[in-house]
Amino acid sequence: MSMKAYIDEAESVLLHTYNRYPVVLDKGDGVYLYDIDGKRYLDFASGIGVFALGYHNQEYNDALKAQIDKLLHTSNYYYNVPAIEAAKKLKEISGMDRVFFTNSGAEAVEGAIKAARKYAYLKDGKTDHEIIAMNHSFHGRTMGALSVTGTPKYREAFEPGIGNIRFADLNDLESVLCRITDKTCAVLFETVQGEGGIHPVSEEFLRGVKALCEERDILLILDEIQCGMGRTGEYFAWQRYGIKPDIMVSAKALGCGVPVGAFLMNEKVGAHSLAAGDHGTTYGGNPFACAAICKVFELYEKNGVLENVNRVGTYLERCLDRLAKTHEEIIERRGKGLMQGLEFDRPAAPYISAALEKGLILINAGPNIIRLLPPLVIGEAEVDQMIGILEECIKQERQTAKH
Ligand SMILES: *Cc1c(COP(=O)(O)O)cnc(C)c1O
Repeated sequence: MSMKAYIDEAESVLLHTYNRYPVVLDKGDGVYLYDIDGKRYLDFASGIGVFALGYHNQEYNDALKAQIDKLLHTSNYYYNVPAIEAAKKLKEISGMDRVFFTNSGAEAVEGAIKAARKYAYLKDGKTDHEIIAMNHSFHGRTMGALSVTGTPKYREAFEPGIGNIRFADLNDLESVLCRITDKTCAVLFETVQGEGGIHPVSEEFLRGVKALCEERDILLILDEIQCGMGRTGEYFAWQRYGIKPDIMVSAKALGCGVPVGAFLMNEKVGAHSLAAGDHGTTYGGNPFACAAICKVFELYEKNGVLENVNRVGTYLERCLDRLAKTHEEIIERRGKGLMQGLEFDRPAAPYISAALEKGLILINAGPNIIRLLPPLVIGEAEVDQMIGILEECIKQERQTAKH
């Protein structure tokens, strides 16, 4: 079947919740993807920050195949070794104390919200606690996660949400402070906002919120779903500042292609929040998903993934800064490591479409921002290749605009 025929078929059977790019992807190898016609694409999106190890990593694939042949699923009524190993590893790397595995990022956010509410409930027995989240944040599409997502257009048709959510501005401590009440149980934000346009938290803000939280026994929840798992050069972006959250959520690159998520908490929350019967999942933490997590950590270490992010991320930043300086359409570059955004003074969609034509996969983060989330194993040569194509696209669009 032709690509066009597949796309027509897809549009007749799938619910149209995405305006997809007109490409049917077929296979991947390293930092390249191939469509069903065999056209090759350099991937600077990695399935929205998922495929950190690149595609078709043989050791990763072999580990998954071996676990399939052994045991796929047990339910959480029993223990399984991969889940124990994965939790130990997460605990060691994050310094958090307790782990709950989920199937997705949104579910991890749901769990974090429940843990925070229960923590507050155990303190005062009340059920009217508030959470402070941020404008322009993104935490997922389920009702709880949506309720703390600071983009009104995502929420509007689905109101009412879970309620008692107040939105402040990232990096504006005063805006958090003036929303704190005696009902506030948690402050939640992404350490680097992803969908909202690649906005890293400032150290001052993070420190300020942490201090406020400690002073008033409010929980700090950090969403590391997109910016975590090495993307900014540390396993988790907050580790750069040495400021630990009370609860942290992870997903995306945690499984590198297998759908997993997790929420983690310190012992204070672990001992005084969700207890037996309070929360659960059928699939979450199953041996297959957890075998993936274990292998991901093993391969990160073996392949020096964090070192690569720090080296290539610095190079990428330099190249993007140069591009921004020499192209008036670009307002600024933002980001850290291999999580970068380029803000244009106009819609980014034409550049993204032109790049796709030329075999480069890019995504946006808001209408005017190109978001770069390459596999974490990318090298300098691929950065050069990406910059070359993007520059061509910018020039090409300039010509088109003139005519
Ligand atoms: C993707 C994302 C989510 C939601 O994760 P899903 O696995 O799509 O449910 C939540 N928070 C952030 C920061 C994300 O980038």
